Amino acid sequence: MKTPVSPANFYNQQHLLEVCKNFSASLEFEPLLAVILDTATGLTHSEWSIIVTQDVETKTLRVTAAPFHLREELEKTQINPHESLAGEVMTSGRLMVYDPSQQTKEQAKAASWERDQKARSALAVPIVYRGETVGVLEVFNKGKEAAYNSQDIECLEVLAAQAAGALQNHRLIQQSENSIQQMIELDHMKNDFIAIASHELRTPLGLIMGHTSFINEIATEEQKQDIEVITRSATRMKDLIDEFGDMDTFTAGMKKLKSERVLFDPLIKNLVASFQQNAHERKVRLVHEIKQPNLAVEGDAEKITLVLRNLIKNALNFTNAGGVVKVTAEEVPGYVKLAVIDSGIGIPAVEQKKIFKRFYQVEKHLTRRHGGMGLGLSSAKEMVEMHGGKIWVESVEEKGSRFTVLIPLNAAQASAAQKVFLE
Ligand code: ADP
Repeated sequence: MKTPVSPANFYNQQHLLEVCKNFSASLEFEPLLAVILDTATGLTHSEWSIIVTQDVETKTLRVTAAPFHLREELEKTQINPHESLAGEVMTSGRLMVYDPSQQTKEQAKAASWERDQKARSALAVPIVYRGETVGVLEVFNKGKEAAYNSQDIECLEVLAAQAAGALQNHRLIQQSENSIQQMIELDHMKNDFIAIASHELRTPLGLIMGHTSFINEIATEEQKQDIEVITRSATRMKDLIDEFGDMDTFTAGMKKLKSERVLFDPLIKNLVASFQQNAHERKVRLVHEIKQPNLAVEGDAEKITLVLRNLIKNALNFTNAGGVVKVTAEEVPGYVKLAVIDSGIGIPAVEQKKIFKRFYQVEKHLTRRHGGMGLGLSSAKEMVEMHGGKIWVESVEEKGSRFTVLIPLNAAQASAAQKVFLE
């Protein structure tokens, strides 16, 4: 037979239901715990209540939530896990009642901490998340010196279930914040390492290159061939260190964009000329086409040069002998559109988005035929985006690739573009 529900009890259940329904609407952790405590105190006719949790690493117990006027003091107190109701409940996962009139000596000892807090009576229930006790909800001093009863227990258990979700969410958020913090620190360490390593490598490399060219002047024809190998390898090493340097420029916070008039005619002609020897050695035809005279933008010439240099270098790298690499520039409404088109090996569709990520390379490290650090395109993307521009690739395997870059004509266009390109 069902026990009849008294009016007072009915009111309690209604109140509990109402509070629980509103929990999901309250997203903040602390206000949520405050509502749980208020409800627990009110519905059990107690003087005050707390939530105790255990530090995952140190296993120490601490008061996580308490009434405003007691918070400062309680948050400082040490809770002995063996001489507190909270500790016992945390260890056993079972609820405990402190009722001095009925207690044995051992039971009374278990509530030492509570007595230190001037508890005349107390009830502590475990906060359980997926079978694990993650905290304790405890109420103190039931009114009229009464003892805590089964309705109080039921009520606290419902509230403890609500607290479980909140505590777990909070724990997860803290864990992910810690992980993000660790990642940021690791990223800083990596950047520092790159900055120091590339700086330290540059000095001896400069000496090697200097002395090699000096020896070359007095070397025999036969020795010159060996020196040529040394020079080529040292130049390759210098290129790699420069790539690190490009990346470091961004990560070290030097994300400053110069604003100057950038004329594409001389920029592209000089750049293409600087690659002609490389193209010739690879038996690749390197051509350019500037579609309008006096093409210019307001931007950072050095960075735009770097973008194009990385694109042309890749195009030559990934195009077989007999192929063509073409650099084009034209004005389109609001932008200068640059393209580096090659008839090379192409990029599989699934890889086309990934290649703009740092250190990403389509070929796997152990089997790769082409040099490089996987940094060129990520640097290029950052530099283009600093201008408020956009870079993308269209490519067909075995047919070739087209990298397109849009650079806004000026700052006004760039800020308008930021909104359009926001993905
Ligand atoms: P890397 O210095 O290794 O070339 P990038 O960031 O410049 O690094 O390029 C990343 C990867 O994208 C390259 O390793 C290559 O696999 C692919 N890639 C870039 N440009 C081309 C291209 N023009 N044709 C084919 N693959 C390319």
